[in-house]
Amino acid sequence: MHITLIAGARPNFIKIAPIIHAIHKAKELGENIDCRLVHTGQHYDKKMSATFFEELNIPHPNTNLGCGGGSQAEQTASILIAFEKELIANPTDLVLVVGDVTSTMACAIVAKKLNTKVTHVEAGIRSFDLTMPEEINRMVTDSITDYFFTTSTNANENLVKSGVNEKNVYFVGNVMIDTLLANKPNFKKPLFFDELQLKEKEYFVLTMHRPANVDEIEKFRQMMFEIVNNVHQLPVLFPIHPRTAKIIKELNLNASNLIIVDPLGYLEFNYLVQHSKAVITDSGGITEETTVMGIPCLTLRDNTERPETITLGTNELIGTNPKKIKPGLDKLFAGKWKKGGIPELWDGKTAERIIDEILILFK
Ligand code: UDP
Repeated sequence: MHITLIAGARPNFIKIAPIIHAIHKAKELGENIDCRLVHTGQHYDKKMSATFFEELNIPHPNTNLGCGGGSQAEQTASILIAFEKELIANPTDLVLVVGDVTSTMACAIVAKKLNTKVTHVEAGIRSFDLTMPEEINRMVTDSITDYFFTTSTNANENLVKSGVNEKNVYFVGNVMIDTLLANKPNFKKPLFFDELQLKEKEYFVLTMHRPANVDEIEKFRQMMFEIVNNVHQLPVLFPIHPRTAKIIKELNLNASNLIIVDPLGYLEFNYLVQHSKAVITDSGGITEETTVMGIPCLTLRDNTERPETITLGTNELIGTNPKKIKPGLDKLFAGKWKKGGIPELWDGKTAERIIDEILILFK
């Protein structure tokens, strides 16, 4: 059988890596399986794309659709047009999409309209917040997916409640954690770690890129002010997402403990996280990684599509109101943060389970 894999943005590369490795392993064991990797080009910056291919040992994409930049609509439209041509030229048995980015949704639509089966890895998670572009991508993708692979039983419930037939839903665990566990022995200390005299558990890692936080300049300014002023002067390492980098210049921030760096490679970023006192973020995937590494995580969002990172993990929703940041940090400094546990099946073997199921489905 033949699978076309779609990847377009940073979190996609991290999710697709173990799936490709599982396909190659199955092939080596004599299974009839082959794949084609399509990069939509949604993220094109070297630090948001090529670095991950090198570090995570992902083969070169068979094609790059070059659909970077533009508004949500422009990007969706350009991926629809480019991927339709690609899929007509290279038919397949199954299109596999991961996560919740524009490429996920657009490629699922194209595949379905060309009567090709679609499978969604990380299906069924819901924030129920339609102001997030990702939530719309999740809902649209799951409304036309044939086979659903989920990270939690909660995601299974969301799918069944929305009318999906339970027999097409497979709770397999979390491919992002496959990548984390496989690469943990290779986490790499960034050069600046010693240059800046960072000390273990005595600095914070910050990431922010959600429109709800960074697009309103005054709110963003207040959030940054509350963060840098309530961390007891500890350094705050901020590997900055390209979309945030454009905006932060307008803030004219002046804080001696704020260290802004370019987006980091996966191995350096997770080294930093692993040795930090805590992470402050509005990312989704990072709340899963901190949960598995047992690092406190303060999430600057009002909701999450990953509730198990809170009920079981080390994550807590601080919210987007800047005034909520100090109480969250005070709780951390008071030593009252929960220890957390690891969600079921987040064990590093999810991609293998996915490929095993696909091989059974297409026998
Ligand atoms: N990440 C990285 N370098 C960075 C920041 C994040 O490698 O400088 C990784 C992080 O470990 C996680 C993923 O990128 O695996 C999260 O991506 P992002 O926050 O863009 O996406 P989200 O999870 O919010 O969809």
